[in-house]
Amino acid sequence: MKIICIGRNYAKHAAELNNPVPEEPVVFLKPDTAILLKKHPFFIPEHSKEIHHEIELVVKINRLGKHIEPRFAHKYYDEVGLGIDFTARDVQADCKKKGLPWEKAKAFDGSAAVSRFFKIKELNQPITNIQFHLDINGKTVQSGNTKNMLFPVDELIAHVSKYFTLKTGDLIFTGTPAGVGQVFKEDLLELYLEDQRIFYFNVK
Ligand code: MG
Repeated sequence: MKIICIGRNYAKHAAELNNPVPEEPVVFLKPDTAILLKKHPFFIPEHSKEIHHEIELVVKINRLGKHIEPRFAHKYYDEVGLGIDFTARDVQADCKKKGLPWEKAKAFDGSAAVSRFFKIKELNQPITNIQFHLDINGKTVQSGNTKNMLFPVDELIAHVSKYFTLKTGDLIFTGTPAGVGQVFKEDLLELYLEDQRIFYFNVK
């Protein structure tokens, strides 16, 4: 199983980090060891002093596919969940400055927190209009809607499947809306899909 992540897929988030709006999706990977184990807290890793939260809609692939056309992409998933793409922003800034890959900032153990998954049919919303938000200690810090994606899910699947064969169980983190910020020990993170709290955990 692999985790494919999209960066800068919401214009307001690209702007808040002083990044240009991309002309094609920004793609990176996390290994399966990045998955935060169920019912475990997120431990701030020793190699960073500035871990940021990025709430993202996560799409689960349900068929093998490669070179998928956008018009057929919807046949390759039927469930979504939410995740946090934890990012060591200080390490990432250093990697960017030196022109190095991002893995140390993005792919460390526990950096992919993922909720359980829900059938899209049962959400009664199309994939292009799904609302989600993140509360920290009871206050909403990020909220997004998939209608604001620069590259919608079906285009993302078409794009990434040009490079990587998609396999059943692969996950795609589809990018974060604006409002990213630092997490601290003892924070409580609560993730909401539409208005339902579907996942929560603490930072340690
Ligand atoms: Mg992200």
